[in-house]
Amino acid sequence: MDSFNPDHIAVPQGSNFIGGRRVLGRGNAIAVRRPSDGRVYADLDSVDDAQLAQAVEDAQRACKGSGWAQTDPRGRMRVLRRWADLIEADMDVLAPLEALGSTRMIHEIRAWDVTYTAETIRFFAEWADKIGGEVAATTPDKLGLTIHEPYGVVAAIAPWNLPLVMAAWKIAPAIAAGNSIVLKPSEMTPFSIVRLAELAIEAGLPAGIFNIVQGDGRSVGDPLVRRPEVAKVTFTGSTATGAAIMAACARTGPKPVTLELGGKSPQIIFADAGLDKASAIVARAITLNAGQVCVAGSRLLVQESVADQVIDRIMTSFAAHRAGPTWRTDTTLGPIISEGQLDRIDGIVQRAVANGAQVLTGGGRATAPQEGSYFAPTLLANVDQKSEAVQGEIFGPVLTVQTFADEEEAYALANDSAYGLAAGVHTGDLTRALRATRSLEAGTVWVNRYGRSNDFILPTGGYKQSGIGKDLGREAYMANLKTKVALIEF
Ligand code: NAD
Repeated sequence: MDSFNPDHIAVPQGSNFIGGRRVLGRGNAIAVRRPSDGRVYADLDSVDDAQLAQAVEDAQRACKGSGWAQTDPRGRMRVLRRWADLIEADMDVLAPLEALGSTRMIHEIRAWDVTYTAETIRFFAEWADKIGGEVAATTPDKLGLTIHEPYGVVAAIAPWNLPLVMAAWKIAPAIAAGNSIVLKPSEMTPFSIVRLAELAIEAGLPAGIFNIVQGDGRSVGDPLVRRPEVAKVTFTGSTATGAAIMAACARTGPKPVTLELGGKSPQIIFADAGLDKASAIVARAITLNAGQVCVAGSRLLVQESVADQVIDRIMTSFAAHRAGPTWRTDTTLGPIISEGQLDRIDGIVQRAVANGAQVLTGGGRATAPQEGSYFAPTLLANVDQKSEAVQGEIFGPVLTVQTFADEEEAYALANDSAYGLAAGVHTGDLTRALRATRSLEAGTVWVNRYGRSNDFILPTGGYKQSGIGKDLGREAYMANLKTKVALIEF
């Protein structure tokens, strides 16, 4: 698990993947910066309109012509399994490429992201021959059946915060179910996923089943979702962009759409919780990926009687972080994705302070071994429930802290949010834990832990403005299939 020299990593030419090979985009060139030091390390070659059209048409042709949808499901499964094996074997290429251009640290990627990406593909591969249909035997001369069929071309739009993993959540179920996919990665983290596409071809995926078009949201993402060949859209990103995509899908379809959106997830610590463990979990849940995680636990709600003890522990944990570049293994806090995003985070903190909030620790840039966009883990007290700091998604290592007297108040504060992605509950009382899971308006409630492990069978997705539909689990696989009914009289 060594550190690496970022200047030794080269980005291959041609960042689009169309018809089974790298293609040099003829559209806008976008300068791509390394978040760790702000240096431009490559120009992204976006597709132009003709190349976008070609990618979608190729995907449609491949879906019908390559026989992928008609392939024996166990044949699809074998290809996907080979692909997952090749991804893991490619660790030394994939991991530095991912670390170079993203906010993920090299040691995290080696320990988790690459394997998790491969495991996501294996999980969905397993569904390929597991889905049957309903049989309705109405009268002796009639038989009713449901049959599941792929949509055809699925368009996927991905965010920058975990580039490989977020893309895999979209690509794997779509392809396993027999669709072809056209993916538009974030223009801020576009390169590592192209390597994944090359490995898919090596594993035996027919050309045209997995395609990548690069560019920004306005000139590539929006026209992609509007293409008439696109039968379904799946998106992960901000709530505002998700709403715009849903409107575009309504106008050009309507097309079914899965949306995984933003969050402002509460973490509730009751006085009967193990305070060391709970405080450590809360501190990690807002500093992981420097808070740039959709399920970041960004609102601490702590019972009054233990508030001081919890705050002390969290401040100690925050202060112990070492900010630094993603390519150094002694870094514990990576960068913010861009200087613009850092300014946005700083603005929210400064406005909170101007409105009476108290900075208990952090509150501005973190010192790091070099120049870059680093924000110190920040704990904000005296925050107003209606304020921007409590209601808005910050997407940085900023935790607000509020106290509550009893359960009822805890749930009222937790649920007073437009978002409903996730929530954490820390308690030693099982009955209270069960009450909490039913009382909280969130797509995921974690009790005495926070974050996913290898529980692929459990779907993920939001309530309220945090999304529509699910990634992972059986639900995500089924969302890539249409249901046909056959009624046969004989
Ligand atoms: P974003 O919405 O700015 O961009 C996401 C993607 O959408 C990018 O690829 C972008 O180019 C594209 N895009 C932008 N405008 C578009 C348009 N009009 N049409 C089509 N595509 C368009 O989000 P981001 O800043 O990349 O990611 C951070 C956000 O993602 C946060 O809000 C975070 O909570 C959310 N997120 C949610 C989940 C989840 O599972 N719920 C997971 C990760 C991130």
